[in-house]
Amino acid sequence: MENCIFCKIIKGEIPTKKVYEDEEILAFYDINPAAPIHILVIPKKHIDCIAHLNKEDEVLVGKIYGVINKIAEEKGFKEQGFRVIVNSGKDGGQEVMHLHFHILAGRKLGEKIV
Ligand code: AMP
Ligand code: ZN
Repeated sequence: MENCIFCKIIKGEIPTKKVYEDEEILAFYDINPAAPIHILVIPKKHIDCIAHLNKEDEVLVGKIYGVINKIAEEKGFKEQGFRVIVNSGKDGGQEVMHLHFHILAGRKLGEKIV
């Protein structure tokens, strides 16, 4: 996708601090962290948001959660806990229209919003 900032990151056109990469998934540190640890996990395939997921993407989403667990283990916050947030669409506060999973960790997070 042209003009998609996360696709540019995947292509190596914008530098990031990489945390994890395989054929389908990339994880990197958020540039504007909302917690001591703030990592974004994205599919390499451009998908706008949750609302644009197809049936065949469901396996990929499962893999993303597997990667999230792997990162939590490797970075040492799996036992202490963490939060995964996916903003979707305008009302969901999504700014970058390439599906991404925020992992927040490293401090007691604020009040639950649901
Ligand atoms: P959202 O509001 O859910 O769309 O989140 C987009 C996230 O992408 C924000 O937390 C931004 O700080 C983050 N972000 C934007 N540009 C970059 C970048 N070049 N490298 C790392 N994170 C970024
Ligand atoms: Zn994209």
